[in-house]
Amino acid sequence: MNVLVINCGSSSLKYQVLDMRTESMLAKGLVERIGIEGSVIIHEKTGDSEKFKLEVPMANHTEAIAHVLEAITNPEHGVVKSMDEIGAVGHRVVHAGEKYCSSVVITPDVIKALEECIQLAPLHNPPNLAGIAACKALMPNTPMVGVFDTAYHQTMPPESYIYAIPYEYYEKYRIRRYGFHGTSHKYVAERAAEILGKNIKDLKLITCHLGNGASVTAIKNGKSIDTSMGFTPLEGLVMGTRSGDIDPAISTFISDKENLKPGEINDILNKKSGVLGISGVSSDFRDLETAAEDGNERAILALKVFAHKVRFYIGAYIAEMNGVDAIIFTAGVGENDIGMRDIICSELENLGIKIDLLKNKVRGKETILSADDSRIKIMLIPTNEELMIARDTFNLCK
Ligand code: AMP
Repeated sequence: MNVLVINCGSSSLKYQVLDMRTESMLAKGLVERIGIEGSVIIHEKTGDSEKFKLEVPMANHTEAIAHVLEAITNPEHGVVKSMDEIGAVGHRVVHAGEKYCSSVVITPDVIKALEECIQLAPLHNPPNLAGIAACKALMPNTPMVGVFDTAYHQTMPPESYIYAIPYEYYEKYRIRRYGFHGTSHKYVAERAAEILGKNIKDLKLITCHLGNGASVTAIKNGKSIDTSMGFTPLEGLVMGTRSGDIDPAISTFISDKENLKPGEINDILNKKSGVLGISGVSSDFRDLETAAEDGNERAILALKVFAHKVRFYIGAYIAEMNGVDAIIFTAGVGENDIGMRDIICSELENLGIKIDLLKNKVRGKETILSADDSRIKIMLIPTNEELMIARDTFNLCK
């Protein structure tokens, strides 16, 4: 069966077509500037040296999906003859609240439940739902599956997810920690167990998804027991533009001093903070490292604060699990930033964590980075959320 994977953002959309007999990717693509002037689709058929690019107005997600379907069935750069060859569609959905702890076939009831979660993820769930509606309109007979970022963390015990605020807010508004990036944490954890030749149920793992958004998860016996993101993807690590953990009193303090509304504070913490906020240079770690090499003090500080927070969570999760067997790095920074991995893993020998500086000189390739005498394995595993979404979709629809 071929599976189409759709990941819809507010003005962009990523897709892949996978052949699930071999789990190989047949094509992938990106639509940008949906609903904005200059809409464009960039489509890449596996094995083709040239990408197909088309600039054409796309007023909404339905028009964008129509162009995706045209691209994948096109006689020249397409990968299937007709949509009949697409057996199912898997949709990434950010927030499923407490409703779903695994992927599900999308029914009217599921859509209703996801609509109820819009208040928990106002920026993410509406475009995810728009993508589902667009596909339903254009492929009414193709089964669809929802794969949720929050689902994997539904195994967290209450002591990990309850905030110490009046309990009625949990009861009334479901304010609790949910966690995100679940599909990525699950993928790399399962892959780590395979590489180590162990049953995941016998392992304690710490997975570090370090990208523009970043989170760390403690996985004990194959289950997420704690993760650094919370009610929203703002909590936890320092990120590209997000503050991560701060004293909540800072919000009201800045709001009073600068005469800002709650929405404006939210914008500052989500879009103007993180390593961008500290450095004033960029949210991109490559720019920060170049600036740091040129002696920019605030870029150096931003990188140090980022590493400090990752180490802080690694230490916390070792305590929570009473040990760890492997620490896994993934996503843009985790997979590519050799210097950052060095800093995060340095001077942890007392905990049995020793990185091999030579083995660590690698980017984007599955590798064991720890020294041979390191009690705890350090691993680089490139994430593959699309494959995970396709697998769940295939398993529910085959
Ligand atoms: P992601 O959100 O997973 O796509 O990660 C994006 C981030 O990865 C970018 O903002 C960069 O900061 C970082 N990144 C990608 N390549 C490199 C690299 N070679 N060195 C350092 N950071 C990188």
